[in-house]
Amino acid sequence: MTHSVAELAGFKAQILRRRWITSLAFLLITFPLYGLLFSRRQGAVFGIGPGGWVAIWMALAAGIALLCFRLWRCPACGGWLGQLSTIAVCPGCGVRLR
Ligand SMILES: [Zn+2]
Repeated sequence: MTHSVAELAGFKAQILRRRWITSLAFLLITFPLYGLLFSRRQGAVFGIGPGGWVAIWMALAAGIALLCFRLWRCPACGGWLGQLSTIAVCPGCGVRLR
């Protein structure tokens, strides 16, 4: 299937946006780890103890994994793009993503 130049540019823009969202999500996942670290040293942080921070981290990790699984798909064919964020071509349909 051939796509117009505008469609191809739109696919690249969508992938760039999705890369940013997933990168921010992975940055966000580190915050409960700081809570865990500090609560183990000096007691509850924001009223949450170490066990609470582990629970928050696990819930966040599960949510982010689900988000990445749903988001990290080819904008052209909807196929899963794999685990590499540096992917340049969709393995399913061959659309250029960079
Ligand atoms: Zn594709």
